[in-house]
Amino acid sequence: MPAKADVLIVGGGVIGLASAYELSRAGARVVVIDKSDPGYGCSYGNAGWITPCFAMPLPMPGMLIKSIGWLTDPESPLYIKPEFSVTLFRWLLRFLLSMNRKRMLTSVDALTAISKQSLELYKELARTTDKPFSFEQKGLFMVAQSEDGFGYAKAEMDLVAAHGIPGRIMGEEEARAFEPSLTKRVRGGVFFNEEAHAEPLQVTQTLAHEAQKFGARIIPKAEVIDFQLAPRGIASARTTRGVFTADQFVLATGSWSPRVAQTLGLRVPVLGGKGYAIITDPLSPNPLRPMMLIEKKVAVTPRSGTLRLAGTLELVNQDETFTTRRVEAIVRGAREFMNVPEAVSYHEIWRGLRPCTPDGVPIIGRVARYPNLILATGHQMLGLQSAPGSGKMVADIALGRKTDVDPEPFRADRF
Ligand SMILES: Cc1cc2nc3c(=O)[nH]c(=O)nc-3n(C[C@H](O)[C@H](O)[C@H](O)COP(=O)(O)OP(=O)(O)OC[C@H]3O[C@@H](n4cnc5c(N)ncnc54)[C@H](O)[C@@H]3O)c2cc1C
Repeated sequence: MPAKADVLIVGGGVIGLASAYELSRAGARVVVIDKSDPGYGCSYGNAGWITPCFAMPLPMPGMLIKSIGWLTDPESPLYIKPEFSVTLFRWLLRFLLSMNRKRMLTSVDALTAISKQSLELYKELARTTDKPFSFEQKGLFMVAQSEDGFGYAKAEMDLVAAHGIPGRIMGEEEARAFEPSLTKRVRGGVFFNEEAHAEPLQVTQTLAHEAQKFGARIIPKAEVIDFQLAPRGIASARTTRGVFTADQFVLATGSWSPRVAQTLGLRVPVLGGKGYAIITDPLSPNPLRPMMLIEKKVAVTPRSGTLRLAGTLELVNQDETFTTRRVEAIVRGAREFMNVPEAVSYHEIWRGLRPCTPDGVPIIGRVARYPNLILATGHQMLGLQSAPGSGKMVADIALGRKTDVDPEPFRADRF
């Protein structure tokens, strides 16, 4: 059993491991525990995008009308299964209240700031690590088939341009020449040159490796059961593999956060945004770079020797079941843009639960009731791309330093 740690991090996803890396390189004695193998939660099979241009909160103005349609269409990119649940009702109410422009702009400020910082930190990590994570800066191409979709891409470009994230508009012909894998009709697209991508599992492995070099201990298959309390805060965590004591605790348990927080009597408003990814053979012609197929909200990521298609978001409460219909909708959606064969090969089908807060901004900060507890969860669709910045913020808060990014919008007690 390890000696008392300075910081015990519960959850070895990309957020927990990025926090471990930043804390341990600042000199803290860190232990990370995970109920499974670190890196195999939602951080395992995501699209791998590190794209500040895409730093949007889930609730956006104008979604209200659309969301009513989504309730009735199980193949819609965002699906909310109609069911009676107080948790879902409370979450949806807050979600609806966040669908206004003022709120959205504040969230975009926060999300672009932490994503831009993260991209810089990833670049530095890619330069310095001896464990590469397939980091490539090939940009992101948003392509649309409809006038509406094209308008959406241009509006997003204008929104992020104000944050110093440049994009370039392309009409149909230019888009096709630029990306020959677009074999079907397209209206146009916007290319964001500075965006990057990486292999998600390798990202977590690199962060773990780098944290371990600074002395962090990473312990798999240790599931937190509950916590023992001290007069001021938490004394220790009882797990399936023993009791871990620490001065400070970080809860980075992604979509499992409500369940773990509940053992402390805390209500953390996080729902799972279930999404799927499939890994298939390369197409002919294969995409040259990551693409967002706007109308279908399908993320396309070329990999070494294969291709990843990812998408859909179904709001669920801890439901990890597979809905093959939604997996097929991703493939069909991609086929409307590219040369995807009828008999598509499935090297891997994966689902993950994105930890979603109702206002679309992660929760990073201390909790008044437990002064030695920091929450680091709720990273919705942006956990990979905002992990290094989130880890830095966690480390700064734990070590009493000023944070680089304004922590206010991320506050844990805002709900
Ligand atoms: C289809 C899809 C595509 C996506 N694409 C992108 C993308 O391109 N870019 C991007 O930035 N984001 C993307 N995301 C979102 C991203 O994957 C998540 O935001 C991110 O992985 C969340 O990381 P996390 O560390 O908070 O959670 P997780 O990776 O889920 O980690 C939480 C960890 O906590 C552990 N845990 C839970 N309970 C306990 C317990 N009781 N005791 C101990 N350990 C526990 C779990 O085992 C798990 O390892 C995508 C998500 C999906 C589903």
